[in-house]
Amino acid sequence: MTTKDAGLKGYYQDRERQRAALPGDVFPDEADYKRGMVIMAHADDAEFGCSGTVAKWCAEGWEVVYVLCTDGSKGTSDRSLTSEQLAKIRRQEQISAGKVLGLKDVVFLGYPDGYLEPTLALRRDIAREIRRFKPDVVICSYPMRNLNVFWGVGHPDHIASGEAAISAIFPAARDHLTFPELLKEGFEPYKVAEAWVVGASDPDLYVDVTDYMDTSIKALMEHGSQLGGWKPEDLSERMRQWRRESAHGRGMLYAEAFKRIRFRM
Ligand SMILES: [Zn+2]
Repeated sequence: MTTKDAGLKGYYQDRERQRAALPGDVFPDEADYKRGMVIMAHADDAEFGCSGTVAKWCAEGWEVVYVLCTDGSKGTSDRSLTSEQLAKIRRQEQISAGKVLGLKDVVFLGYPDGYLEPTLALRRDIAREIRRFKPDVVICSYPMRNLNVFWGVGHPDHIASGEAAISAIFPAARDHLTFPELLKEGFEPYKVAEAWVVGASDPDLYVDVTDYMDTSIKALMEHGSQLGGWKPEDLSERMRQWRRESAHGRGMLYAEAFKRIRFRM
């Protein structure tokens, strides 16, 4: 059963289920959240997966940063492009999309596209950005191969980035003895409040993005190198259709769905 969460306007969640999973928790005042971070493998992942929510956050005055794990250097079928040229194009596309959304910053970790693994080095590099920007909420990819969703045969970089992101939140960003080099660099331990995971087959948080669909799609269209097979109007309708399906039966027109994990208790 889905109930309206009075604490966070425009966000619906299965609160009863959360309470059952975490008996006795006292939840922080979600209305105080104002810093978001989106950790994804590639330029364009966030625009496809959660840009309505990002646009909403920015419009509500949140400071939002992206952390992109790879350089995007493999995502093309155009044989005239080198990896270096492609990486440069995709970096610029992401910066342009970020301007449409109103991001504070985009961080490129620069790992080679297509070869991402949830290594300790990646976990440390993400933990550094978490300690630097101190987000209340982190959006990341589902950390396992999920055959119950239509993109279950999707990109291994997405799985790797999701696993590294969640492991960076807990415990690497939190514990001062983990990656002590971060402390030496001046990055104090930090506790993220929540992770909202994209791509779960059993989401329990629905964000009403009805007012932000146009901005979301405009940002996605900045990724020109990744839209080769789509007519703009078809892609726009597809984005709306996905979000209509998530919103169905929840009193919203368009929604983005997440699996919510609470860390700060
Ligand atoms: Zn991707």
